Amino acid sequence: MTGSHALPPVARRVSEVRARVAEWRKTGLSVALVPTMGALHDGHLTLVRTALKAADRAVVSIFVNPTQFGPNEDFAAYPRTEDADLAKLASVGASLLFAPTVAEMYPQGFSTAITVAGVSEGLCGATRPGHFSGVATVVTKLLQQVQPDVAAFGEKDYQQLQVLRRLVRDLDMPVAILGVPTVREADGLALSSRNAYLSAEERAVAPALQRALADAAAAMTGGMPVAAALDAARAAILGAGFAAIDYLELRAADGLAPLTEVDRPARILVAARLGRTRLIDNLAV
Ligand code: AMP
Repeated sequence: MTGSHALPPVARRVSEVRARVAEWRKTGLSVALVPTMGALHDGHLTLVRTALKAADRAVVSIFVNPTQFGPNEDFAAYPRTEDADLAKLASVGASLLFAPTVAEMYPQGFSTAITVAGVSEGLCGATRPGHFSGVATVVTKLLQQVQPDVAAFGEKDYQQLQVLRRLVRDLDMPVAILGVPTVREADGLALSSRNAYLSAEERAVAPALQRALADAAAAMTGGMPVAAALDAARAAILGAGFAAIDYLELRAADGLAPLTEVDRPARILVAARLGRTRLIDNLAV
C-alpha cells in the first residue's frame, strides 16, 4: 500500500512508548491509543483515522493477547502480518506502532487480572470463558503504558466496547472511550481479521449473518414480536449454511440488559459458526 507518510517507528518496550509519549506531551500534543491484534484491515484504519481527528498523535498497538484466547481457540493460528500492517499504518498517518512481545507484557510472576462483572457475562462471555477478563486486563495495561487522552474501539466488538466503557468508569481512568461504527464490505459482511479463514464458499455465505440482523431489526421496528423476529433470523442464518449459532439476542444498547421488547435503544448481537470460523456481528434497533 502506498501512503503519503513515512513508516511509523516501532516500539517493542513499554519504556520506549513512554519516552515517545513524554516527548509529545512536552510540546502539549494530545494522544490517542488504538489497541489491535494486527492483521489490519480498513476497520482498524478507520479507528486510526477517527483517533487522529480526536487527538494530535495516534499510538496503534498490535498484540495478539494470549490471555483472551481460550485453550481451544485460534491463538497460534491468528494471522500475524506486521510488515503489511506497518505500511497500512503509514498510509493513515499513525504516529507509532507499539508491538510488544508476550514477555514484555506478561513478565515472569505476572499475577493480576481485571474482571468486569455483569456486562462481561452472557453473549461472548458465555461461549468464551475468561475472554473479557483477558481483554480488560490487557487494555488496562495498555492504558497505563500509553496514558492516552482517548482510546478508540470498534462497535464490531460491541460487548467488548461496553465492558471497556464500564472498566474506565469503574476505575476512574482519565481516558475518553471512542466507539467507532462497524466498517463493512460492500455486501454487508463486517470486516474482521478472521474473515481470512473463510473458504470462497463460506465467504459467499457470510453476508447472510448481517442480512439476518438487518431483517430482524426491520421486523422489530415494524412491530413483530422480538422472539418471532429472532426465531426468523436464526432460521435464516442456519438456512444460509452456518453450522451453529452461539447466541442471537436482543440487548439494551447501553449496559446490555436482556430485552424482550424494544422499549429503549437496543442492539441485536450474534455469534455463529461458519465451517470452523466463528463470526460475530451486531446491529442497532
Ligand atoms: P482486533 O484486532 O480484532 O482485536 O480489533 C481491534 C479493534 O478494531 C477493536 O476495537 C475492534 O472492535 C475494531 N474493529 C475490528 N473490526 C472492525 C470493523 N469491521 N469496523 C470497525 N472496527 C473494527
